[in-house]
Amino acid sequence: MGQPLWLGLLNVSVMPTFIGTSLLFYVAQRFDWWFGYTILLFVPFWVLGFFVWNFGAGLLIDRLLSNRPSAAVGPPCPHCTKPLASKYAQQCLHCGADWHNSRTA
Ligand SMILES: [Zn+2]
Repeated sequence: MGQPLWLGLLNVSVMPTFIGTSLLFYVAQRFDWWFGYTILLFVPFWVLGFFVWNFGAGLLIDRLLSNRPSAAVGPPCPHCTKPLASKYAQQCLHCGADWHNSRTA
């Protein structure tokens, strides 16, 4: 998948388990349930933690740490004000304005 092993383990093992266990302890305390009952919720909480981490926080962190263009946005185009693909973009994908080789940009 082109990512280091530690990152894969973090994403599919460590963080879902951490989030699932945290929810488990929260529910056990909040509703004052015996832990033996709440442990039954570990699997659905783990799955919830997996999705929250990988499709919420994971995508957000990935977006913040990378400079790849994505559906999320860069600064507005100086010509048409629509969002550029990234903060490093030198051409607008909407109006085609191009400031490659510009020394001031
Ligand atoms: Zn533009």
